[in-house]
Amino acid sequence: MSDEKSLNFLEEIIEEDLKAGKYTQIITRFPPEPNGYLHIGHAKSICLNFGLTKKYGGYTNLRFDDTNPSTEETEYVESIKEDVEWLGFDWKNELYASDYFDTLYEFAVKLIKKGLAYVDDMNSEQIAELKGTPTEPGKESPFRNRTVEENLDLFRRMKEGEFEDGSRTLRAKIDMASPNMHMRDPIIYRIKRTHHHRTGDDWAIYPMYDFAHGQSDSIENITHSICTLEFVPHRPLYDWLIENLEIYPSKQYEFARLNLNYTVLSKRKLIQLVNEKHVTGWDDPRMPTISGFRRRGYTPESIRNFCDRIGVAKRENIIDIGLLEFFIREHLNKIALRRMVVFDPVKVSVTNYPAGQSEIIKGEENPEDPNAGTRDIEFSGELYIEREDFMENPPKKYFRLSPGQMVRLKSAYIIRCDDVVKDNKGEVTEIKCTYLPESKSGADTSGINVRGTLHWVSVPHAVNVELRLYDRLFKVEDPSNEDGDFKDYLNPHSLDVVNAYAEPGLLDASAEERYQFLRKGYFYLDKDSTKEKLVFNRTATLRDDWAKKGK
Ligand code: ATP
Ligand code: MG
Repeated sequence: MSDEKSLNFLEEIIEEDLKAGKYTQIITRFPPEPNGYLHIGHAKSICLNFGLTKKYGGYTNLRFDDTNPSTEETEYVESIKEDVEWLGFDWKNELYASDYFDTLYEFAVKLIKKGLAYVDDMNSEQIAELKGTPTEPGKESPFRNRTVEENLDLFRRMKEGEFEDGSRTLRAKIDMASPNMHMRDPIIYRIKRTHHHRTGDDWAIYPMYDFAHGQSDSIENITHSICTLEFVPHRPLYDWLIENLEIYPSKQYEFARLNLNYTVLSKRKLIQLVNEKHVTGWDDPRMPTISGFRRRGYTPESIRNFCDRIGVAKRENIIDIGLLEFFIREHLNKIALRRMVVFDPVKVSVTNYPAGQSEIIKGEENPEDPNAGTRDIEFSGELYIEREDFMENPPKKYFRLSPGQMVRLKSAYIIRCDDVVKDNKGEVTEIKCTYLPESKSGADTSGINVRGTLHWVSVPHAVNVELRLYDRLFKVEDPSNEDGDFKDYLNPHSLDVVNAYAEPGLLDASAEERYQFLRKGYFYLDKDSTKEKLVFNRTATLRDDWAKKGK
């Protein structure tokens, strides 16, 4: 299907480049900073970068952009690798910008030697003061015209740890009057004595993002360096550095980041939710992280289909989270195993079923998949159905159970309600029914057609399960754009825990499978689950009922 779609702007560029013979293979990279877990926005970038090299031949590197030692951790590196793999992509090389620290240092020396970089003794406030504004040119630093020798000596001593953190920087010597603020002698190295997750205490200076990113691209011969729109104003600096360092000419292209409503997609914000315990962790099933979605039961296929469908644009917009859920449901409907679970039970006694007996009923594993086969379900004379599936005084056209009315129990028999038992508060505690032995599903000779089909479980066989029902994490569409703190807009009802009764086959549930609890939604086994206490996450409801609820 994707072949029939028109090309996106990056595919157009690549096809032209290939036609012009510019490259023999396409090389891209996915460059996360290991300062948090990946979110669904990153999935878009992953699908894009890996998708392009898959389509056009070539490969994609996984490069950790680890030049800011104070926020980066090995835990994040591991989680990022797990997530990219889970999404179904293989990287060619696992690389780290920190592996290039020696080369980057040499690049900086080269710029100094060309008279294109200088050591500035001003601190960051003084530098900011002279920077000017977008409409007003900046002023040159008094240290701008140091000799090459002096700069080489000072830069070496910065590296050797002779100076205080923040007391000096290395700046590219470009143009303090440039209309582009990024070209006004940007800082390319700073002194920062912080332990790095890979290089330890080897370095007292670290390159700035702009001096590491494009240079790393170039070292790896990246042909198309794809990033999000906020880097458009960085592109002249990206090109200037590559040109003046005379290194491989990687090219930067920008696309619109993914924004999703009812959530936040920013590691800086997500980390607050984790640290302040608004969620149980990065993989809380309410989080828009890849690990959260995985735990919730989303499939890699559905996330990839979603990313494919939203495409790549050059203008920012907000995607409805309902679209993501649509792709989840579409996939789960095809693969989920059907099971019966009663959430809010009321007891049904089948008075003409032999007391103390039970039998095995065959139920479909998945009606959408002819090869899925059947499962065994225990049936007996004591059953639970949903309380909401019974009404003592029903309106017209009520097809569920009510006095005198017949319904089919899914995969089993037709029953008729004969009588109800109530407690002293008037609440129904038991529904007395009779069943039609000749109405068994698959061998029904009763000749009776009923309109309602109910899910049920056998009381003596039922197993207790904990269900975690999730709702949107935020109660407003764009929490980052509201007054005050985005966390003021968390949905207080984003998690509801329910104890329910399940058919005993669920004791064999595994994280390899997805389940549909009939009429209730899609569910996935949680990692908190034990043999004694089964725990399932609701991945999605069967239909999108958010709009209906009128929240
Ligand atoms: P965050 O603001 O969440 O920290 P980031 O851009 O700083 O995101 P990086 O680790 O630097 O995170 O991102 C790795 C890659 O993923 C970058 O190329 C970045 O442009 C891309 N990316 C990040 N967020 C999104 C998003 N919402 N949509 C598309 N791509 C994204
Ligand atoms: Mg970043």
